[in-house]
Amino acid sequence: MGVFPRHADVVIIGGGAIGSSIAYWLKEKTSKEGIRVVVIEKDMTYSKCTTLLSAGGLHQQFSLPENVQLSLYGAEFLRTLKKRFGPGADIQYCPQGHLILADEEGAQRIIDNNFIERELGVINQILTKNQLQQKFPWMNVTDVELACLGLEKHGWFDPWALLSVVRYGAAHLGAQYVEGEVVDFLFRDSEEYIGEGMDDNPYKAVNEVVVKMPDGEHKTMEFAFCVIAAGLQSSELAQLAKIGTGSGMLSVRLPIEKRDRYVFSFDCPESPPGINTPMTVDHSGLYFRRNGLGGSFIAGVSPCDDAELSLDEYFRDKVCPVLQNRVPAFSSIKVKNSWRGSYEHNGFDDSGIIGPHPYYHNLYLATGFSGFGIQQAPAIGRAAAELILDGDFKTIDLTRFGFDRLIVDKPMYETTVV
Ligand SMILES: Cc1cc2nc3c(=O)[nH]c(=O)nc-3n(C[C@H](O)[C@H](O)[C@H](O)COP(=O)(O)OP(=O)(O)OC[C@H]3O[C@@H](n4cnc5c(N)ncnc54)[C@H](O)[C@@H]3O)c2cc1C
Repeated sequence: MGVFPRHADVVIIGGGAIGSSIAYWLKEKTSKEGIRVVVIEKDMTYSKCTTLLSAGGLHQQFSLPENVQLSLYGAEFLRTLKKRFGPGADIQYCPQGHLILADEEGAQRIIDNNFIERELGVINQILTKNQLQQKFPWMNVTDVELACLGLEKHGWFDPWALLSVVRYGAAHLGAQYVEGEVVDFLFRDSEEYIGEGMDDNPYKAVNEVVVKMPDGEHKTMEFAFCVIAAGLQSSELAQLAKIGTGSGMLSVRLPIEKRDRYVFSFDCPESPPGINTPMTVDHSGLYFRRNGLGGSFIAGVSPCDDAELSLDEYFRDKVCPVLQNRVPAFSSIKVKNSWRGSYEHNGFDDSGIIGPHPYYHNLYLATGFSGFGIQQAPAIGRAAAELILDGDFKTIDLTRFGFDRLIVDKPMYETTVV
């Protein structure tokens, strides 16, 4: 891991998919010796990070153009992964359609989203109830009004493999990973700085992190820029920088919340839906997809308030009925395996937050990508690197995803969050 660096040009807090992608792009866009990038990660086993628990789904069916573009670039990045990282870069990508079902209430949303998606080059197809039935005879479509089938650049992959590849790529280009937990920020008075919306207190600049090392020792590291990419812990870290506890621009908290998601794997022993089964998102919010080429599947759901139920009970009482309604062949399924994960949900409007905090010119946020952070990580990393190195977005304009929108109360609602 090397000597603990006392200074870095950019310190990234969190080495999951988002943090590692930012590190990769910062180094990719500069020469190997260009800038000193340090990623501080508190758990090098990544055992609890969200990236590891993700289902690795990739799609471009969103209501906001930014999300469509971010995921389109995710697909492009995966397509060219071996070219970028070498022939050993294998993330088990499985190309497959992505099908969103709508009832009467959701049908118009599908049409509206489809318009935006097509404008941006997404290849998908609207299916009426009859067309859906013809295409997927194993599906019960009685309560479906309309569906949208994503045909290209959709599928799923192994999220751990993607993280490993990107992390390796970042380290190979010279980013340094340090094991330790950021437990505080250090500030210095900067009286010459006066900004609009600030109160009478002297401006405090942030330029150092305090890192608790695995042996308990506390060390400090100075930085020119710092990025909070700490997934579920991002709000706590932002609070250490007084975001949400101060006054004026600092009075608005970073609203990253834990949203639970359950994932179940199960077998369908008799007449399972075949190899062309798309990743299917039911209008109830539950999704399922193939898991391999046999009759194995996984299903996922964001649980409602019945969190008292065990995972097995939840599958039996809440998941099975929906699955069996949609696919009659699932009548005798039994859960094989299950896991609980939480993703970093932006409680303000469901969309990611990227860019500098308006109070600090050098403290950036890259978090809150909710249920689609892994597929968007390549584009988020590139966008954060553009902001830091070039001072502006150069490829996808994510200005509307900045923190400022929380201060001026302008939500960017994404309606396709599962
Ligand atoms: C069950 C489930 C299914 C999902 N399915 C999909 C999907 O199909 N498609 C998709 O695109 N997305 C999916 N997601 C969402 C996706 O996994 C996340 O959006 C993404 O992984 C977030 O990456 P991250 O780097 O922000 O967070 P993380 O992966 O959690 O990384 C944050 C890192 O920061 C570290 N850290 C935290 N605090 C500190 C600190 N103080 N000091 C140092 N390090 C710190 C943590 O240890 C962690 O490693 C799913 C999520 C879940 C839970």
